[in-house]
Amino acid sequence: MTLAGQAFGSGRVGAERDRCVGAGQCVLAAPGVFDQDEEDGLVRVLAERPSAAESDAVRAAVRACPSGALTLR
Ligand code: SF4
Repeated sequence: MTLAGQAFGSGRVGAERDRCVGAGQCVLAAPGVFDQDEEDGLVRVLAERPSAAESDAVRAAVRACPSGALTLR
């Protein structure tokens, strides 16, 4: 990871809505980064580039997602 990467966060969040099953684990783990669509319940990414402070929560969300819909690269 570069110094710039450490200063501004740890990567880009990806969410495949066609894999999402609306379980909401990502929202529980990182509510500042993920939300669920009011209409279909599928994941919405609020912050594609989370801050360094949020990166642990995003990693927890990636691990918690039951459908493997989330990535952090
Ligand atoms: S945890 Fe996974 S399946 Fe559940 S809402 Fe988030 S992206 Fe969708």
